[in-house]
Amino acid sequence: MKANYHTHTLRCRHAQGTERDYVEAAVKAGLGILGFSDHAPFPDFDFGLRMPYDELHPYLDAIDRLTGEFISDIILYKSLEIEYIPQYQSYYEGLLAQEGLDYLLMGEHFYPDRSGIIRNIYHARSTADAVDYAKAVVRGMETGLFRMVAHPDLFTLGQFAWDGNWEEASERIVEAAARTGVILELNANGLRRGIHDYPDGPRLMYPHRRFWEKAAEAGVPVIIGSDCHEPAQVWDGCMSAAREMLQTWGITPLEMIEGLGSNKS
Ligand SMILES: [Zn+2]
Ligand SMILES: [Zn+2]
Repeated sequence: MKANYHTHTLRCRHAQGTERDYVEAAVKAGLGILGFSDHAPFPDFDFGLRMPYDELHPYLDAIDRLTGEFISDIILYKSLEIEYIPQYQSYYEGLLAQEGLDYLLMGEHFYPDRSGIIRNIYHARSTADAVDYAKAVVRGMETGLFRMVAHPDLFTLGQFAWDGNWEEASERIVEAAARTGVILELNANGLRRGIHDYPDGPRLMYPHRRFWEKAAEAGVPVIIGSDCHEPAQVWDGCMSAAREMLQTWGITPLEMIEGLGSNKS
């Protein structure tokens, strides 16, 4: 069965399409499962280009309505792609327990560095920042709050050559996946972002082969996430290209995730 657990909507202010547009596109593309994971709002902090906090309930309500309407066509899940910042522990717990999210997708763009300062991995100053980034991701994986990590190799978008720091960051995250069972997502949106020049040659910003070769060696669970920001991307050519890429690297991804929202399957 075709399943995608990483889906945005126009609520995050940098994607197109309503919840309904994505459901219709997914049904048309033959998906059996669609998980909504728009960029999460935080009650007291604005990371920028995210859903406003007052749209959280309208977002969840829209998915609930579509779940009923499309019940014979597709299974829908409610989630958020969310930054892991340790002080928001009770917010994450509340999203799962009170708001009824089916899973949380850790999408770490911002992370606390070793002195607790919140940094953006898009603005890494050197490859050393990737080690702090990986430590934050691993700490999140250890909480048991997150079912998956979106683009765990996002740090390779920095304009640097692969080195020992990226090696260490990769090893930390892969080791944590082996230990915790948190699923690592091969992000198809990285393929959509194309090939760029790097000091060690042209490549995608992410996914990065050397990260995934470690994941293959460790035999950790991997899933492909569309990370669609337009309805037509829900299952586009990048999804099959991502699968072929994983095969080349010796990884067979999970088709679907068992045991989500136990009342639905
Ligand atoms: Zn996005
Ligand atoms: Zn995303």
